This record gives sequence, C-alpha cells and structure tokens, in this order.
Amino acid sequence: MEDTFKHRGLRKKLVNTLKIKGITDTNVLQAIGKIPRHLFMDSGFLDHAYQDKAFPIGAEQTISQPYTVAFQTQLLQVTKGDKILEIGTGSGYQTAVLCDLGAKVFSIERQQELFKKTSKFLPKLGYFAKKLIFGDGYKGLENEAPFNSIIVTAGAPFVPKPLLLQLKIGGRLVIPVGNELQIMTLFTRKGDKEFEKQELGEFRFVPLLQNKN
Ligand code: SAH
Repeated sequence: MEDTFKHRGLRKKLVNTLKIKGITDTNVLQAIGKIPRHLFMDSGFLDHAYQDKAFPIGAEQTISQPYTVAFQTQLLQVTKGDKILEIGTGSGYQTAVLCDLGAKVFSIERQQELFKKTSKFLPKLGYFAKKLIFGDGYKGLENEAPFNSIIVTAGAPFVPKPLLLQLKIGGRLVIPVGNELQIMTLFTRKGDKEFEKQELGEFRFVPLLQNKN
C-alpha cells in the first residue's frame, strides 16, 4: 500500500480537473486531493486511478467517477459530525471522502464479497465509518435514523420511500434516479410530509438492485 510523490502529483491534477468542471466545495476538493484513490482499485488499474473515470472493482461493480463523487458530496453540504447514510459502499472511496469531512458514516452494501473486502480495507487506511452494514439499501437503516443526509451511489429505478422518511427535517437525499440513465435528484425534507425536489443533470451508475441477496 504505497502512496508516492507521483500519486500525489496526479491527485493535484485531478483536483484541478474537478475545479474546471465546476466543483467549488473546498473541503470536498481537499478530501479528494488527500485520499489515495489508487489503493481502492485493483492493481491493474493503478495507472488510471487519477483520470476522471469510473473503473471496475470486482463483482461487476464500479468505483464512481471522481467528478460524480465530488458532485454528490458537494450536494450533501456536509458539516462535521453529520450523521450520513450511504447506500452502496462498493470500494469504500465515497465512504472515505465522507469520513474525511468529519461525518459519522453508516454505509450499506449488498454484495458480500465487496462488503467483506471494504470492511477490512477502510480501517487499514485510517478511515473509520461508524458502521458498515451488509444488507439491502432500499430499506435504509431504520434503527439509526434520522440522518442529516443520505447518499445513494447506484442508479435507483425509483425513490425508495424509507430513505425519504429517514431524513431529519432539513435533511438531504442525493439519489440518481432512472434505469439506463439517471437524473441526479436532490430531495430536501422541509417538514414531516413536505419535500423539495431538484433535478441536477444526467449521470450513469450501476443499478441499485432489488430482491437479490
Ligand atoms: N460508493 C461506491 C460506488 C460503488 S457502485 C464507491 O465509491 O466505490 C454501487 C454499489 O452499490 C455496488 O457496490 C453495489 O453492489 C451496491 N448496491 C447495489 N444495489 C444495492 C442495494 N440494494 N443495497 C446496497 N447496496 C447496493
């Protein structure tokens, strides 16, 4: 597990690319500048780790494109101590970004292989989520609710109700909604039954899977 001068240089370039593409949250940019993304990927992909691209991480899943990670994280408006639920732990890269921002992170993954691998890997790198859970993200995490924000990192064919209901008042749900192509959607909970919805452009994710365990 090596992080070299070369890697740090490539990260700086990546941060610049993200700025040019419109990411403005300095805490998010700093986190991406700090976290060794290449260590979250299979060794064969080391040379590609700092391009602004998604990559395979095994079990037919991908590590999200850095721009997408930055865009979603920026929408969460994270402040230190926020209680955040992530659906789709995957490689743990997004989890690490949230930990770096000082959030208390709960993250759910339904692929056992990835769940096990990432549960071992994240603490080794010094990132401690509050809890990593093997389970179905469609249900959210009732016993830890409410959350300041919830981030879904797989394409959801529809918006799961439990996720909306597990937000604090003022809380935010960032979720890519759609099948082949997804619309990044931000829900803000304004009241008990009141939600504001904003649509923020097209993205492409691996699917949020249902009824398969
Ligand atoms: N945040 C991850 C992105 C991984 S891709 C990263 O930074 O690497 C999306 C992940 O969502 C995959 O690992 C996939 O297994 C997981 N996933 C798909 N359907 C799910 C569900 N119903 N519940 C929890 N996780 C799910």
